[in-house]
Amino acid sequence: MEEINLPVEGKETIVPNGKEEKSLNFIEQIVEKDLAEGVNNGRIQTRFPPEPNGYLHIGHVKAICMDFGIAEKYNGVCNLRFDDTNPAKEDTEYVETIERDIRWLGFKWGQIFYASDYFQQLYDLAIMFIKQGKAYVDEQTAEQIAEQKGTPTEPGVASPFRDRPIEENLRLFEAMQRGEIEEGKMVLRAKIDMANPNMHFRDPIMYRIITSHPHHRTGTKWKVYPMYDFAHGQSDYFEGVTHSICTLEFEVHRPLYDYFLDQITGPNFAGLSPYGPDYRPKQREFNRLNITYTVMSKRKMLQLVKEGLVAGWDDPRMPTVCGLRRRGYTPQAIRNFMDKIGYTKVEGMIDQGLLEHTIREDLKETAPRVCAIFDPVKLVITNYEGNGETLVAENIDGHPELGSREMKFSRELWIERGDFLEEADNKFYRLSPDGREVRLKASYIIQATGCEKDADGNITTVYATYDPDSKSGTEGGNRKTKATINWVECNSALDAEVRLYDRLFAVENPSAEEGDFRELLNPDSLKVVTAKVESSLAHAKMQDHFQFLKQGYFVVDDDSKPDHLVFNRTCSLKDNYLK
Ligand code: ATP
Ligand code: MG
Repeated sequence: MEEINLPVEGKETIVPNGKEEKSLNFIEQIVEKDLAEGVNNGRIQTRFPPEPNGYLHIGHVKAICMDFGIAEKYNGVCNLRFDDTNPAKEDTEYVETIERDIRWLGFKWGQIFYASDYFQQLYDLAIMFIKQGKAYVDEQTAEQIAEQKGTPTEPGVASPFRDRPIEENLRLFEAMQRGEIEEGKMVLRAKIDMANPNMHFRDPIMYRIITSHPHHRTGTKWKVYPMYDFAHGQSDYFEGVTHSICTLEFEVHRPLYDYFLDQITGPNFAGLSPYGPDYRPKQREFNRLNITYTVMSKRKMLQLVKEGLVAGWDDPRMPTVCGLRRRGYTPQAIRNFMDKIGYTKVEGMIDQGLLEHTIREDLKETAPRVCAIFDPVKLVITNYEGNGETLVAENIDGHPELGSREMKFSRELWIERGDFLEEADNKFYRLSPDGREVRLKASYIIQATGCEKDADGNITTVYATYDPDSKSGTEGGNRKTKATINWVECNSALDAEVRLYDRLFAVENPSAEEGDFRELLNPDSLKVVTAKVESSLAHAKMQDHFQFLKQGYFVVDDDSKPDHLVFNRTCSLKDNYLK
């Protein structure tokens, strides 16, 4: 896979009036052509078809933005269809979280469907296929069937059961559904062409037996379950989907999608779809999303969750929608990211830095700035006489319309240990006891006078004097210093648990490496520290975003309580992507 930073299609073009207008992506071009030609009477219907076997991840969001986006843009409808044809892996827990995550992203579906709604119709169609001599029951093992598939250049080998009489196929398939045949002992295969250059035509499996797990909606009613290829196109057809948009790996399935539809559409089947004999759904494919330093597979994510290698599906290091939310990503930033990467037919790898860039751009405009001291040392202002005072600081400098907050100030403050050096050279602009002036953020100018150390030589207290006429917001506040440092007043400071997250994997493309992907996890992906934060944060609510000055963007975690504040680092301030 080649590394792609920005795709060719979907890029922004500058139009003369100075407004940025997006060029159409190739799917939008197809839709506009269909509309111009009056295909399907100008009706636009899409669907998002997740399998409820895990939580949605950012890869799914790319599909969601496409499916819902097309419907929104062209006055159509996008339905949500749960592709629940494998009871062994599916659960209502996943159905609920998928709905919740789509809503959180800000999309609205028309109706909710389930592939399991069509089990009876699909079964009836399978019976029809058998009666027409287009399907047979195979008693070989999965391995035997795989061995006979051939290669793209060599034809496959026909199953010894391929030509069994129609009556026998019917009897056996019905026995499969009655639960009389053990799981894994028989499958129903379409009888198409064992020599077809498209391997998917070499008698694909239509039905398998699953009796070991009840279905989350239909219980134990069904013992046979349709395979993806036999269920997906038909489900689209029953519902009236016009544009069945999916990812590129399904491109090779498309002829089979069309083949199965060919068998059930046309004048003989007027009752199967409400949209008349001319209506046909069409499958279209775009490139999957892959992002560096993470994995994009529900199977692998499930493994990380089950083995406790992360704290859950919503662990802020996970590329899941709920993980991103907890990490501090906003729906807008995620959708902006999808706009930036666009849709093409080329598989590639997107730099995780671009994802971080989009959330940084979003929070830059909105997140209030506050002081948080990560490695505190005490600063005593020896000439400060009063009992303290309350200063007012703008949430974002230069933006009074975004509000302000109160900051307690008094004689004793916490500052970053690294902001003081006993002996500094002229490259260091912050505090040092050599007469230089430094401004305390949104406050006064101070000069360090000395420090105190413990027996090991560690600095325990820094001493300074302040200039009462230098307060920010007054005339003296305009006096410039080479450096501004952050501080939090000692008496009112709150202790906050701060979770410093980093990328989940240590290697750029864990899926491309040999061996166990779990061994590629970044051992330093989480560091927990305690910081001294401003008292204004006492009222911070879940999902509130802040910039901790000089540290990064942080969000209030779901675990946070008034007496135990918890913040997650969304991203650092430094943008490696722009570089
Ligand atoms: P996974 O491989 O993680 O199990 P999946 O493709 O099996 O994912 P589904 O629930 O079947 O998951 O996917 C629902 C829809 O989301 C499909 O249309 C699929 O093409 C799309 N999708 C899944 N992963 C990605 C991705 N990485 N990029 C874009 N679309 C994706
Ligand atoms: Mg799938």
